[in-house]
Amino acid sequence: MIHVRRIAAFLLCAALIAVGAAVPSVGRTATAASLTELQQQLEDAKANANAVKSQIAALEKANAPFEEQRAALQKQISATQAEIDLYQAKIDALQAEIAAMEKSVAASELALKKAVREFKQRLYAMYTSGSIYSGLEVIGGTEDMAASLAKMELMESVSRKDNRAMQALLDAIDELRTQQEKLAAEQEDLAASQETIRQKKAELSAQYSKINAIVLSNRDAVKALENKEASYAQMEKDLAAAIEKQKLIDAGAVGTGQFAWPVPGYYRLSEKYGYRICPIHGPELHKGIDISSSGIYGAKIVAADSGVVLLARWYGGYGNCIMIDHGNGYVTLYGHMKSASPLKAGDVVIKGVTVIGYVGSTGDSTGPHLHFEIRKGSGTVDPMSFF
Ligand SMILES: [Zn+2]
Repeated sequence: MIHVRRIAAFLLCAALIAVGAAVPSVGRTATAASLTELQQQLEDAKANANAVKSQIAALEKANAPFEEQRAALQKQISATQAEIDLYQAKIDALQAEIAAMEKSVAASELALKKAVREFKQRLYAMYTSGSIYSGLEVIGGTEDMAASLAKMELMESVSRKDNRAMQALLDAIDELRTQQEKLAAEQEDLAASQETIRQKKAELSAQYSKINAIVLSNRDAVKALENKEASYAQMEKDLAAAIEKQKLIDAGAVGTGQFAWPVPGYYRLSEKYGYRICPIHGPELHKGIDISSSGIYGAKIVAADSGVVLLARWYGGYGNCIMIDHGNGYVTLYGHMKSASPLKAGDVVIKGVTVIGYVGSTGDSTGPHLHFEIRKGSGTVDPMSFF
């Protein structure tokens, strides 16, 4: 039996855990927080996640006996049902036997009726043929007494035989009725036993419902905690990213949103941004500007804005290429460099200061120039709109 107060206390405890303080999300104002603040938040999130883990473990441990009890009750209920079914089978078998006896009784009664009818017919035949007469005729009649007695004897002999047959049928019917009653009594006993088991099953089912409610409630509480745990995990991830970003900000690696000219001293454009007719590809968007002045070959290329190197390698038609993520939605690309950039992905670059490569003519290029692109989202913008 389950102690109700204990259940109530347990449920209350589970409910409190389930509705506990909501997990705060990592604010988009993370940039306002200092690195130490972010690191502290990350520590807090980790501690909270661990606390939730412990709560889950405790709840699962507390729920284990209820789960076991529920499984045991389920077994008991199945066992009682099997017993009920067994009794039902016996009751049904007895019912069939009783029904069969009923048929036998009916058959015997029919036979008895037939015997009585035949007996009457015989008596009537004997009477009308003159072989039998009423006792009154014997007493008050004029016939010869000896002949009369002989006739009566004959009548008695006939009636004795019929009587025996009829009595045998009556006895058979009696016997069948007695048997039937015995079986009916037996059937009643079985039904009573079955009812007892039915009651036992009902009690078990009621107990099961109670335990089941606890188990389900606890499972819900565990699920809620698991969701909370997932939120903390996401928060840890977000905070880790925010910390990385803050580190970059602290290192001056986040863009200003304004760009410095990437090849100081060389300002002539050989190709503007926009649609053009390419001798090879036909009409196409020239996604950047081509900076090309005499003597530009080998000139220093500087980062147009602060950021982190996203890619620094040979990049198809761009030849030796470098891409910088400015952490503010802008990415700049520098193509056709003389040689591979001295930088690698992940390096921090400072606006107008960090040398990221030298002007060359690698990839799809017909002469020394810097192809300079400013990407925003999935598109590009005209770099000249910044100068
Ligand atoms: Zn170009």
